[in-house]
Amino acid sequence: MNYAVTRMLAPVRLPFVVTPGEALSRFLSALVEGRLIGERCSECSKVVLPPRGACPTCGIATNPRDNVTVSDGGTVVMFCIVNIPFEGQTIKPPYVYASILLDGADVPLLHLVEVPVDKARMGMRVRAEWAPPTERKPSLEAIRWFVPTGEPDASYEAYKEYA
Ligand SMILES: [Zn+2]
Repeated sequence: MNYAVTRMLAPVRLPFVVTPGEALSRFLSALVEGRLIGERCSECSKVVLPPRGACPTCGIATNPRDNVTVSDGGTVVMFCIVNIPFEGQTIKPPYVYASILLDGADVPLLHLVEVPVDKARMGMRVRAEWAPPTERKPSLEAIRWFVPTGEPDASYEAYKEYA
């Protein structure tokens, strides 16, 4: 008797270690201090965050002296509502995951937004809610999530390049 295999469980593990490099190390260290830093490109003047040591647009190396402290407040330029549970998930769905353009940055940052899912919207002004200093580690988990500030929404014209 022949049976067609239509489904197979195949657990996969992929352990890895990230070596952040100098630019990202500065960014991660600053997170522990409750600061967000990017690097300004000398060619196009864009502020890249998290910094990778090169401008993703121009492809040229950034100068560590061009570190820029970026606001921990910004604008939701895109978002999704996570409804599907998955293994290892630490937050119970539904929740909002957003692309946030921080004031002073030119690359949006992906992070959680603590807001009822039916209240999430593009243009919403948000601010980082930092973990207490003693609990901060050199990762984006140093920011628990972003919360709405109550400011008027940003106009679409202000962020359409990033949406
Ligand atoms: Zn550039």
